Amino acid sequence: MTQQKEKERTLVVIKPDGVQRSLAGEIIKRYERTGLKLVAMKFMLPTPEMVRQHYLVDPEWLRKVGEKSIAAYQKRGQQAPYDDPVEYGEFIVSKLVKYLSSSPVVAMVWQGNQAVGIVRKITGGTEPLTSDVGTIRGDFTIDSYELGDAGDRAIRNLIHASGTIEDAEKEIALWFKPEELIGYRLIQEQILYDVNLDGLKE
Ligand code: ATP
Ligand code: MG
Repeated sequence: MTQQKEKERTLVVIKPDGVQRSLAGEIIKRYERTGLKLVAMKFMLPTPEMVRQHYLVDPEWLRKVGEKSIAAYQKRGQQAPYDDPVEYGEFIVSKLVKYLSSSPVVAMVWQGNQAVGIVRKITGGTEPLTSDVGTIRGDFTIDSYELGDAGDRAIRNLIHASGTIEDAEKEIALWFKPEELIGYRLIQEQILYDVNLDGLKE
């Protein structure tokens, strides 16, 4: 029987740079091979309004993204371009609107035990310069806060992945209609989740 834990869902969006760099297949493969189940996927061009709504599903996000960016500069002993996190957040969201609506993206929903955390782990930290080796952002691209700011643009880091279960639920509702999420049984779920392994031996 499927338990609640196995039903956790997260939204992944392969951003325009991921599609333009022909990395969509490689990125999907990395999530697929974990054992997570793909329950929805579409190729689409997001509207600027949708991108803005997407980032503002968490009312605290503007402040958090600003604080995280200021902290990254401070860690290197450098001065961030903004002192006020919310002002920095407003700058970032305006750049994200332009970035994500510039070219098609692949939106997906992955489901399974700890889907949000597993996907974030594989995706890697926000800034590719400091994302761990072995993560998608660490392995496949090279952007940094400094380069983004120098170019007056968003950091190009290939992927969006939901940060919390709550954000994931809101984001999925924004990107997909309920009927686009497909409930089905995946054969491998037996080995991933079943309590006993009876019936495998011949
Ligand atoms: P995402 O939400 O896209 O999965 P994340 O959770 O790692 O990424 P957030 O803090 O939510 O990062 O920031 C959202 C996105 O905004 C980042 O993925 C990046 O593209 C962009 N971004 C974040 N900080 C900056 C910054 N200081 N300058 C430019 N772009 C930024
Ligand atoms: Mg985020």
